[in-house]
Amino acid sequence: DEAASHQLTSVLNPQQEAAVTAISRTINVAAGPGTGKTKTLVAHAFHLLEERGVKPTEMTAVTFTNQAAREMRERLESQLGGKRFVSRMRIGTFHSICHDILKKSGLEFTLADELEMKDTAEEIIADRELNLPVRQFLRQVSARKCGLEKETESVPAEAYEAYQRKLKEQGILDFDDLLLETLHLFEEEGKNKTLRQGFSYLLVDEFQDISPVQYQLIQEWNKGGRELFVIGDPDQAIYSFRGSDARCFEKLREDYPQITTICLEQNYRSTPQILEAASGVISQNDGPERRLIPQRQAGTPVRLVTASGEMSEDIFVAKEINRLIGGIDMLDAQGHLETGDDLRARSFSDIAVLYRTNRQAELLETCLKKEGIPYVVAGREDFLMEPAVRGTLCFFKALLNPEDRTARRLSLKLLWKLPEDEMSGSIFDAAALKYRKKIKKEKPQKLLEAWVSDMNLQEEEGVAKLASMSVFYKNMAEFLDNLTFGQESDIKRCGGKTYTSDSVTLMTLHGSKGLEFPVVLMCGVRKGLIPLESGKQDIDEAEERRLFYVGMTRAKDELLLITSQEPSPFLKAIPEEVITRENAGKQRDPGMGKQMSLFDFMQP
Ligand code: ATP
Ligand code: MG
Repeated sequence: DEAASHQLTSVLNPQQEAAVTAISRTINVAAGPGTGKTKTLVAHAFHLLEERGVKPTEMTAVTFTNQAAREMRERLESQLGGKRFVSRMRIGTFHSICHDILKKSGLEFTLADELEMKDTAEEIIADRELNLPVRQFLRQVSARKCGLEKETESVPAEAYEAYQRKLKEQGILDFDDLLLETLHLFEEEGKNKTLRQGFSYLLVDEFQDISPVQYQLIQEWNKGGRELFVIGDPDQAIYSFRGSDARCFEKLREDYPQITTICLEQNYRSTPQILEAASGVISQNDGPERRLIPQRQAGTPVRLVTASGEMSEDIFVAKEINRLIGGIDMLDAQGHLETGDDLRARSFSDIAVLYRTNRQAELLETCLKKEGIPYVVAGREDFLMEPAVRGTLCFFKALLNPEDRTARRLSLKLLWKLPEDEMSGSIFDAAALKYRKKIKKEKPQKLLEAWVSDMNLQEEEGVAKLASMSVFYKNMAEFLDNLTFGQESDIKRCGGKTYTSDSVTLMTLHGSKGLEFPVVLMCGVRKGLIPLESGKQDIDEAEERRLFYVGMTRAKDELLLITSQEPSPFLKAIPEEVITRENAGKQRDPGMGKQMSLFDFMQP
């Protein structure tokens, strides 16, 4: 029924139907995971276009990721037969929408490179002899721009303003400025009709994770509009460090007292066991009673797997994936084919491996590679900050946009170790000459291959990783845009040399928001990681629990929680009836050389 569930209007339950057809100034769908919120939002957009004669140019849909925006557009196009100019409907993330608005308004700016921000911050800190690490400075500046005033105590107002002035002088906006500037534009030119176009119908997904500035933008955009349609789940708010607030729904109801609220309670995604396990966890948080009524039939219990350490956790994961895929390891010790529901063969793309921190991916990758498992790693990784990688990105950025002097200057500095002057300018121009013609025509992967050999970057691992990201894009502009605006799950890198769409997905819990997979393996479900103890800050237990809850509720059929050392305290809240415990070491012996290689790998 995969196809059926993708039909936008058929098979909706009565509450979903009510949300889709609701006519009200403000509509709010607050509901748990897997209840069809996103499906309902897309169906509502379809309903507006198809049944109520709303023009695509009157609508804006804010999604949390670029991928979600793309999917929404594709679904609407295929349902409407492409005939209704869906391309004219504004669909995107807050950042991409604000970027477009500002560009259209005629404001000239370049988007700050992270290094540029760091350089500027360092200067400010040094000049004032502030006792503050750069990271913390930037984090606080960002918090302040997101509308979190109280976070900025240790950055003096004067330093903050100096930082802003410095960026402004160079015509640079940073990521947070995109939203702030857009907000100012609307506040200043409130009556400008062209500016206000497209906001008559405003739809927002994942409302629980909006920052105060994003909330203000919604209010500003909605002024004079006809409808505001927001959906989300307070129990899935996981971005409080960016200023999101799990109580934003309460604020919404205060600000819009006439609001129509619709609750969805049927969960179509997960088996009853998975739901009961997840509900056990989230019920430890305060809040009104939550109802999630499973629509799926009983499946297998949630598997709680204990390993002896991180390495054996990851080895287990690799072995388990091969087992799930089926084939040889479905044979038991006597060589008989095992049968049973839990041995339904899977494809790699059915499986996601989730973890709390990006750095857990490294060892996992090694283990998956050893087993020959194709995988894709999603997320913004540290290698993107390596000089050769940034320099490369800046070079192509400057090539696509000759106005972008910052990118040009940075590429000269980072790749050729030269300042921007006439001499080095000609070096840039010589390199640019070779690529100018190709950049629009050739795939980014091809361009980067040529680039690596031209610039002798064969030894640069980061650049190789960059190339393995580029395989997902048709052209360089699209690739760079996605790197700039992409959320965690938008930014992907394939593990092998060649990309195959049948790959396991590796991502952080944060990155998994809104997604679903038949099988989810969560690694490192142990004390210190879940909840994460970072040493510097106090643990926000409620938020960490929500994050764990988000991860668990991504699973449709099977959920495996893998732990070692001291298990996560959150596991205690899972009812015993829905779990089975096993030991990673006491796996059924695969008896095949292929699997044994992992044990070889364990030897020093
Ligand atoms: P999350 O909170 O995780 O973002 P969500 O509430 O947005 O979840 P969706 O992703 O929209 O949920 O839907 C979850 C799954 O349930 C999807 O596979 C969707 O196709 C399916 N689904 C939703 N509603 C129905 C329905 N009425 N009939 C059948 N399947 C449905
Ligand atoms: Mg959703």
